[in-house]
Formats: sequence, C-alpha cells, structure tokens
Amino acid sequence: MKLAPDSVVAGHQDHGVGFVEVSGVSKTFSLNRRQNLLALDGMSFDIRKGELVAVVGPSGCGKSTLLRIIAGLETADAGSVRIGGESPATLTREHRLGVAFQDHALLPWLSVGDNIALPYRLSGVPVNRARIAQLAAMVGLSDFLHSVPRQLSGGMRQRVSIARAIVLDPVLLLLDEPFGALDLVTRRALNREMQSLWASLGTTTLLITHSVEEAVQLADRVIIMAARPGRIHAQFNVDLPRPRDRVVTDSLAFLQIVQAVSASLDDASAASGSSLEAGS
Ligand code: ADP
Ligand code: MG
Repeated sequence: MKLAPDSVVAGHQDHGVGFVEVSGVSKTFSLNRRQNLLALDGMSFDIRKGELVAVVGPSGCGKSTLLRIIAGLETADAGSVRIGGESPATLTREHRLGVAFQDHALLPWLSVGDNIALPYRLSGVPVNRARIAQLAAMVGLSDFLHSVPRQLSGGMRQRVSIARAIVLDPVLLLLDEPFGALDLVTRRALNREMQSLWASLGTTTLLITHSVEEAVQLADRVIIMAARPGRIHAQFNVDLPRPRDRVVTDSLAFLQIVQAVSASLDDASAASGSSLEAGS
C-alpha cells in the first residue's frame, strides 16, 4: 500500500471552491438574563462536492449547533451558509437535505419501509417503492421492511434512519453522531457498510462523531473544534486509500493520523474556555 508522505496536513487550508460554504457563522445563546454563551464564533470552512468531512470536538463545543444551522433547523446570528448557492432554508423547504441524529427518531407505529418512505410523504413526492427496496438492501434490511422499529436492534434502527435520510437523494447529508449509542462491534460493521454506501452514492456529507477512529476511517478531512467559544482548532486531510478496510485501519499510516488527530483534540480541549459551562 502506498501512502503519501503528506497524508497528515494540519492547519487551515484552502480547499478550493466549496459546494458547502460556511462563512463567519456565529451563534449566541442566552443562558439567563445576565449571561450569554457564545456557542459558535465566526466559523468558516468549505466542503467540496462529494467530500466527506468529519467534525470532532469536546462535548459542548457547538457541533450540533453547527449542524443544525447548516440543516436550517437553527439560524445563525452572523455569517452565512450556502449549499450549492442556496440557503439551508430553501433546501429544507425543498426536502433536499438529508439529516440523521444519534436518536434515530423513527415513528414507532410505522414499518421500516414506511419509515424510510416518510420523506416522500412529507414532500408530496410519489413514493418510489423500488428505491426504498434498493436502499433497504444496501443497508442490509431487506428482510425487515415490514417490521416495526421495536422489533429491531439499535444498529438496525440507525440503518433505517440513514436510509430515510438518503431516500430523496439529498444534495448534502448531515449526520450528528449517528453511531454514538451503538456498541463497538455494531459500530464497526456499520462504518464498513457506510463506506460502500458512500462509494456508490458519492453524497456530500458532514459527519459529527466523538470517535477519532471513525472520523479517520470515514472522512476525507477531519475538522477539530475547540469550545467556548466554538471554533475551528485544526484540520487534517486524510489521504488514505479506499476502501478503508482492516488492511488500512491496521496500517501505521492510519494509526499515525489517529494519533495526530487525538493529540490535536487534546490540545483543543485544553484550549477550550471553561466559563459559562451550561452542560450539553
Ligand atoms: P456539542 O454538540 O458539541 O456537544 P452543542 O452544539 O449541543 O454542542 O452545544 C454548544 C453549547 O451551546 C453548549 O454549551 C450548549 O449547552 C449550548 N446550547 C445548545 N443549544 C442551546 C439552547 N437552545 N439554549 C441555550 N444553550 C444552548
Ligand atoms: Mg451534539
């Protein structure tokens, strides 16, 4: 396996024209009448079309706030987000963003197939059963299309929520710790499946995770955030071959990037302010 000597590139870089452009995004929450919390302070970065960017950072550094702003679920106080030249609000209205959270948020009374079909119903687009069957097969759920969520394991539920997030072919997939509540074995299996899914779909993706290994295995680039205020601490390009199977994840190059990102994450935690902690 050939590894580029520059596979670890720390620091802020120019990543060319972005498909997703986050510029100067700031967000303040008021905690009480006297105290405000600067959750995000002038965050700027781009995501190229087809790129998978992972974000890691200490708890409470504003990762979910950032994702919610990009998803159009929250508004920034300053700065802007453009996705293919459009605003998040426009894309959300047109059901062109795919979002999945740690909490799978499936409707318990609907079957797996109907849960995956939900975006069709919400957007008024006729349900494409062939597409649902194809996605269910891709995430290993063909035999469970008629099951309801309580009959599934945690990992299977996450697969449903990811299938639901991509069913309408989103221009951008936003994932907030989608595998965070899963055991390690399930998580690794899902990480492998997600890789082949991405390889076949090529969906531009922003993935928030608290696992450095997961970030390095899946992402083209890892952004490390620091807290209070939430900001970019460092970025690493992950220039490892794909698919990143065991041969890659057992390699020295992989471990070196994991170590470098982990060290940077430790730096970011040390550099994070401690005032006004409001929990997360
Ligand atoms: P992360 O996802 O990185 O753990 P969050 O984006 O959830 O962080 O939160 C960032 C900070 O903003 C935290 O200190 C959190 O308590 C605070 N926060 C998030 N949402 C709200 C809100 N609606 N009101 C007040 N504070 C909030
Ligand atoms: Mg969060």
